[in-house]
Amino acid sequence: MQVATLFGCESGEGAPETSAPPAGSRCAILETGLYGSTQQNRRRRPRKRILRRNPTMRSLEVMFVISLIPLGLLSAAGESPPQNLHTLASKLKPLHKPMGEPKPGDWLSVRTEPGQTFKEYLRARPETITDARNKIYIQPMGQFSGAQERIVALTADFLGRYYGAKTEMRPNIPLSVIPKKARRIHPVLGGEQVLTTYILYEVLKPRLPKDAVAYIALTASDLWPGKGWNFVFGQASITDRVGVWSIHRNGDPEASAEEFRLCLLRTMKTAAHEVGHMLSMYHCTLYDCGMNGSNHREEADRRPVSLCPECIAKLWWATRVDPVARFRKLAEFCKTNDLKLEAEYYDKATKLLKAKEAKSDS
Ligand SMILES: [Zn+2]
Ligand SMILES: [Zn+2]
Repeated sequence: MQVATLFGCESGEGAPETSAPPAGSRCAILETGLYGSTQQNRRRRPRKRILRRNPTMRSLEVMFVISLIPLGLLSAAGESPPQNLHTLASKLKPLHKPMGEPKPGDWLSVRTEPGQTFKEYLRARPETITDARNKIYIQPMGQFSGAQERIVALTADFLGRYYGAKTEMRPNIPLSVIPKKARRIHPVLGGEQVLTTYILYEVLKPRLPKDAVAYIALTASDLWPGKGWNFVFGQASITDRVGVWSIHRNGDPEASAEEFRLCLLRTMKTAAHEVGHMLSMYHCTLYDCGMNGSNHREEADRRPVSLCPECIAKLWWATRVDPVARFRKLAEFCKTNDLKLEAEYYDKATKLLKAKEAKSDS
């Protein structure tokens, strides 16, 4: 089965194929099994019907059965007991606003999602970084402008710090490997698009390194995931460790220094969010958080790159990183790249965690 348990995103606007797509969106967990962003002419179906129709849900059903396993049996994968991580993460609460009511058009205004607590995450037997699988591979595909190339390299650096993983840039694969059957000209907008599933399963999967926790293609080409969709920002598989993301809709980094920073931040957010899904994180519904689903560009821009206390505990557990060292590395990255708000966040987060350590030592 090519598509297993996947996450995806779609537009809540349901723009028909004959109209221009909505401004954009960032991905979310979907019953349909796609990581994506904008879907055409799609109607919401009752969840039960999707569960019966979609074979990908078998994996989720298995996951729910596994959830009966006692929590204590699962703690060996992390270096700290889960409850300690959760307590430490709670010190970050002053930095995160609760989600509150969604605005009209926001992700949660057009769909209902259960969210995922740290305990639920552990019970679901999440994918984790292990000694055997500890590297994030970035696979550039096709041509990039000079500024886009710098953004790809910076995003790789950022991902390594975010997940405490080694990263490796692979030699560029030209888009000429994509056959005609996996390309199209958008029927309304006219731009060329590449089929995400071809990249995932025909390009990446056969080349998947054994030590890859994630193998991610980045392209400047626009993407679409198949019939009924206008476009997607990205798509990834939680079970096959492959993903693809486009910077096509993240702005023009050549235009100015400010546009460069914006494009970089958007690319960082998408990359971090999607790798989070690959480590079994569901969408967050508790706080403003990097794992929130986003239904359009403005909502995605409003969401932080950082993770809330509930989600950061998942990341710490899945990656076994040193929380303080991680924040320091991220702060350093953000300062170097003039991402002031983000740098400020990581500095404050470092102080809060250190304050916790000092208290427990006394
Ligand atoms: Zn998502
Ligand atoms: Zn969260």
